[in-house]
Amino acid sequence: MKYDVAVYIGRFQPFHNGHLSVVQRSLEVAQHLLILTGSHLASPDTRNPWSSEEREEMIRAALPANWQKRVSFIPIRDHLYSDNLWLTEIQQKVLEEAGEEARIVLVGHRKDRSSYYLDLFPQWDFLEVPRLEAVHSTAIRDAYFSGSEESNYAAALPAGVADYLTAYQQTGRYQWLRDEADYIKGYRQAWAVAPYAPTFVTTDAIVIQSGHVLVVRRKARPGKGLIALPGGYIQLDETVLEGMLRELREETGLKVPKPVLQGSIVEIRVFDAPQRSQRGRIITHAFCIHLKPGPLPSVRGGDDAEKAWWMSLADLYAHEDQFFEDHFQIIQHFVSRT
Ligand code: NAD
Repeated sequence: MKYDVAVYIGRFQPFHNGHLSVVQRSLEVAQHLLILTGSHLASPDTRNPWSSEEREEMIRAALPANWQKRVSFIPIRDHLYSDNLWLTEIQQKVLEEAGEEARIVLVGHRKDRSSYYLDLFPQWDFLEVPRLEAVHSTAIRDAYFSGSEESNYAAALPAGVADYLTAYQQTGRYQWLRDEADYIKGYRQAWAVAPYAPTFVTTDAIVIQSGHVLVVRRKARPGKGLIALPGGYIQLDETVLEGMLRELREETGLKVPKPVLQGSIVEIRVFDAPQRSQRGRIITHAFCIHLKPGPLPSVRGGDDAEKAWWMSLADLYAHEDQFFEDHFQIIQHFVSRT
């Protein structure tokens, strides 16, 4: 074998025959394969429906018995706004698993612009594996979550994965994801008549006081029931600052005078990862408001928020996978600065 370890990064949402062909090629050139399941702890949506544990179970179900011992899994979190943090996590975890002396090869296929990350590992060799044509995760998920009897979502899946997904259709989580998929489809269709794909502008408030962050629970789709930052679309007659203050008041009823809120803004940053929302291109202006220490001001849910509360930082990290879209990453960005 030319290599000790092959490294294969992906979302595998779900693991299909194209992915399987990459695994097979990897095991022809390397003694051991590390599968890095990306987007670990991302909140569930129709693009990232299955957790790292579920994906490992699915992939294991697809591998022949004689490959099992040669493959191991490492879940990797996204750092949507810092490739360097993402690379640090991968470098550390692969080094831990493979050791300093290992001959390492990165495997994958450059499918489109989103594959740019394959060029971020100059320290390892790279093995390009050809694309298995006509096999796309997005098409498989669309068919699977359409719920249609005719949808042939299993055609490009290894048998073990197809069985896993068929059983998964009986779970409450499947129904939740189907409802989300229907909502997203309707939302996109409503805008399909526009001459250009629309770009939406939203605001979010990150209010921090004495080790707590102000959060809400979403009352409606998308992300019904998930934890989120207070925020929303700006109205046509307001600035982003006014929009942020209005949404904050409507969704949390925060009892702090406006001038104090405005005077406590410590940082404003735009968050614009192209894939941050399933609804389409949504760019958010996030305002970090750092309030002086003292008793936490009273709050109550309202408007689009079923509930508003002060979440301790310990709780925040314990509930990472329950945050809507990239809101956990936005909070993390500001928490490390204040
Ligand atoms: P994916 O499951 O779509 O693809 C995984 C790999 O399989 C890719 O190399 C892809 O080209 C290949 N592949 C897909 N279909 C194939 C087919 N039919 N035949 C052969 N090969 C095929 O996963 P992905 O979205 O590319 O995964 C990248 C992961 O890395 C994601 O979790 C992403 O969020 C993460 N990432 C994070 C950061 C960051 O946080 N800063 C930056 C870059 C990437």
